[in-house]
Amino acid sequence: METKRKVVVIGAGAVGSTFAYTLMQSGLAHDIVLVDADRARAEGEALDMNHGLFFAPPVEIRAGGYEECADASVVVVTAGARQKPGQTRLDLVSENVRICRQIVEAVGRHTEDAVILMVTNPVDVLTYFALKYSGLPRERVLGSGTVLDSARFRYLLSRHYKVDPRNVHAYIVGEHGDSEVALWSMAHIGGLPLKLYCAMCDSQIAPPDHDGILKEVRGSAYHVIESKGATYYAVSLALARIVGAILRDESSVLTVSTMLDELYGVRDISLSMPCVVDRSGVSRVLRADFTAQEVEGLRDSAKALRKVIDEVERQGEAPFRRRP
Ligand code: NAD
Repeated sequence: METKRKVVVIGAGAVGSTFAYTLMQSGLAHDIVLVDADRARAEGEALDMNHGLFFAPPVEIRAGGYEECADASVVVVTAGARQKPGQTRLDLVSENVRICRQIVEAVGRHTEDAVILMVTNPVDVLTYFALKYSGLPRERVLGSGTVLDSARFRYLLSRHYKVDPRNVHAYIVGEHGDSEVALWSMAHIGGLPLKLYCAMCDSQIAPPDHDGILKEVRGSAYHVIESKGATYYAVSLALARIVGAILRDESSVLTVSTMLDELYGVRDISLSMPCVVDRSGVSRVLRADFTAQEVEGLRDSAKALRKVIDEVERQGEAPFRRRP
């Protein structure tokens, strides 16, 4: 018998509720539960979605408490403070580390079987703490990482090359944030390295401006936040992609944030690399062949994250009860 695909979403704000709505329409889940400190909000969002069930694949949607995690396949954590205009993701750290502590402890009281997907920012730092102090195996705690950034990168390349974004393969790795790294060496369109693709286009398409494109990827969230206050559509599609890979045991390659064993001298840090994602969470980290510049970028990104983690730990806010 097929196991029930149940997803608990902690935080029914802009990201949590838009993700639930995206998931509802995808047909990927049998059961979606919204948990929020503001219970009325979770109930309102669930009711609003239920009113649309006539137009969607069959699914149960409700507001609930942490006890709903007991038989969940995936717990998606979107609760916390969001970026305000001009604020970096790292500015959010202290507040969200404290919230993350309460949530991970509450989830841990009800299940040790679910995969935990962190979304709240700064997502790599929170993924690190959620793993360290939940006591779960590393593969089961992951962050949405740079799946969204890689989509933004692909979108910009698709615009530049005038080709469907689904035929562009290109990854952003490292921090989901200002130090993220574009893997230009691995980028290709329909199997062709970018240089070859350019050559095929009879010089009608100039080579892309690497720095300009990376700057635009890094600035994407800032632009959206400045204009409408928050980002939630594209991230929700990215989350549905990750959760779908877990629920359907897809073994999809996605740039999720994961605790690294050792890679190019980077260890004991959660950041994004191309990973194989399946029912167990992250089953493999792909050890890609980076250029010297990409390696340097990854190490710098790890250093930036390590600095924040050390700062949190120095302030005595390392938040979770360490399990044996
Ligand atoms: P929001 O303010 O709209 O929603 C946050 C929700 O969390 C609110 O409903 C609030 O009541 C709830 N909440 C706060 N503390 C809680 C607690 N202790 N327990 C349960 N619920 C609690 O914010 P948003 O726009 O939905 O953003 C949420 C987070 O997602 C932010 O940290 C934001 O930066 C992050 N985000 C991440 C990505 C990514 O790619 N990783 C993309 C967009 C946003």
